[in-house]
Amino acid sequence: MSKQIPYKVYLTEEEIPKAWYNIRADMKTDHRPILHPGTLEPMTADELSPVFCTELVKQELNDKDRFIEIPEPIRDFYKMYRPSPLVRAYCLEKELKTPAKIYYKYEGGNTSGSHKLNSAIAQAYYAKEQGLKGVTTETGAGQWGTAMSMACGHFGLDLKVYMVKVSAQQKPYRKTVMETFNAKVTPSPSDTTNIGRKMLESDPESGGSLGTAISEAVEVAVTTEGYRYTLGSVLNQVLLHQSIIGQEAKAAFEKIGEYPDIVIGCAGGGSNLGGLMSSFMADKLAGKKAPYFIAVEPASCPSLTRGKFAYDFCDTGMVTPLAKMYTLGATYKPPSNHAGGLRYHGMAPILSQLYHDGFINEARAIVQSDVFEAATTFARVEGNLPAPESAHAIRAAIDEAIKCRETGEEKTILFGLSGTGYFDLGAYAQYNDGTMTDHIPTDEELELGFSAIPKVDK
Ligand SMILES: *Cc1c(COP(=O)(O)O)cnc(C)c1O
Repeated sequence: MSKQIPYKVYLTEEEIPKAWYNIRADMKTDHRPILHPGTLEPMTADELSPVFCTELVKQELNDKDRFIEIPEPIRDFYKMYRPSPLVRAYCLEKELKTPAKIYYKYEGGNTSGSHKLNSAIAQAYYAKEQGLKGVTTETGAGQWGTAMSMACGHFGLDLKVYMVKVSAQQKPYRKTVMETFNAKVTPSPSDTTNIGRKMLESDPESGGSLGTAISEAVEVAVTTEGYRYTLGSVLNQVLLHQSIIGQEAKAAFEKIGEYPDIVIGCAGGGSNLGGLMSSFMADKLAGKKAPYFIAVEPASCPSLTRGKFAYDFCDTGMVTPLAKMYTLGATYKPPSNHAGGLRYHGMAPILSQLYHDGFINEARAIVQSDVFEAATTFARVEGNLPAPESAHAIRAAIDEAIKCRETGEEKTILFGLSGTGYFDLGAYAQYNDGTMTDHIPTDEELELGFSAIPKVDK
């Protein structure tokens, strides 16, 4: 009898990677540099250092070193909640009657509830090392703000969080978690910044947006002595830190003598997918056998499937540098009935370039009722309530597994379960009571966002 693969494949503490993998060192066409919004010249380290910690600026601009050592205090923190398990979804396979082997890498098993802690702890560490007093950041649903609060709480660093106002109203307990870790939470737009006051003037009832909250957090960071800004997705440094996910996943697969045929991740700003695929994409970039990569996004915020590959602002206030990425335009707002997360208008430049060059094989957009159907199927059979974001990946994994049932192929599927669903019960409530609706933006609706993309000939 052949030995059955266990439900959970764990690495030992010693097998937690000692270095992050910097995919840019292996990319054939590196992504285009971020540009200064005034001069349209590539941002230099000097220009970035009022915004980010010195060491993080170096990481942001580093396209040479394949591996960057993880400092001991960060590894020690990782040891408290990592390695994260690679789980064989036996019960889901049985439910789907599929010959496919389905695995997921679960990042929701820490208090912040998602993969975001992997980068938060790194960003807080470098700020502390530099002797800063504190950092600022923004948060939408609250996942990143919570992760950053935990990280700053650990290193005794002050944290100012600008939280999108509607989220702060809808999710008061998220604020409580952050405050418990000693963060100061301000609903955005607020009267504490120029950009916030301007937004409030034009729309006093504004519920805010992630883009505006970013503008506020950046403004405070560059105008307050001893502060820098931190961001939870999109940036090169964030994808670098998240490479821990993919490295662990690959090592776990090696332990059981398997290798995925398909790697699937949900894509908002691109950090969990960028992390999950990292070590497998290394194989592809080296011309070796590699999986088929699928990025999954909401049909109501379809940056990869319907966006433009162009230089654009990273925030609504249009104060950040310009990044070359798939974008719906910095002013794009998903329809108000959208409940499933992944609302960012752009996509990480690394992911954008890999998709543009065909290394990410496919992007798929899914309507939210299909996403939540997959989420509840998964929750019931696997006993794990997924984050709505992660459920985008589940939907695609289920669809691939169903294809295998039809063709009889025994493919090995890996998807990223980036977080827990405990913090998004409002969205589940909508689905459960039948009030969830779908809205796919029309071309005209998207055109509004596209018209705000700056004309940059690079
Ligand atoms: C923030 C978040 C995402 C989306 O961000 P990415 O940068 O695309 O990973 C996905 N899943 C969960 C659980 C999140 O908290």
